[in-house]
Amino acid sequence: MQINQNKVVSMHYRLTLDSGEMLDSSFDRQEPLIFLVGHRNVIPGLENELIGMESGDEKSIRVAPEQGYGVRNEKLVQSVSTERLPDDMELEEGKALRFQEQDGQIIEAFITSLSDDEVTLDLNHPLAGEHLNFDIQVVDVRDASAEELEHGHVH
Ligand code: ZN
Repeated sequence: MQINQNKVVSMHYRLTLDSGEMLDSSFDRQEPLIFLVGHRNVIPGLENELIGMESGDEKSIRVAPEQGYGVRNEKLVQSVSTERLPDDMELEEGKALRFQEQDGQIIEAFITSLSDDEVTLDLNHPLAGEHLNFDIQVVDVRDASAEELEHGHVH
């Protein structure tokens, strides 16, 4: 069976950045990633390249930032006075802070630098601007159940 919209795919993947840093590997966990195609469960640049593949197929897929976690936006790097942050917030370079926006959405920011009275926050996704290099191996392809299609995810 070939991968297409509304199929459930099991696959192993290894994700490497251009720097050579390996971010994740399901091969090491020996448990494949299982997801429903066509419901925004994985990044589009990866999913589009899987269409037509079958169980046992292997492929190397390079995903550009635009098709991955977006390009970096330097306007999302902002300095904030520490007085504007809650007193109990632990500040440390490289640490992620979570904020809740007025509409309830949670946003994450990373502290890129820190001085006595100012914190520089980067609100870009940590993988923004990165090319993502996937080595994948399809383990299984099956039809989704009616309930899975209704929910938009695998059960
Ligand atoms: Zn469900």
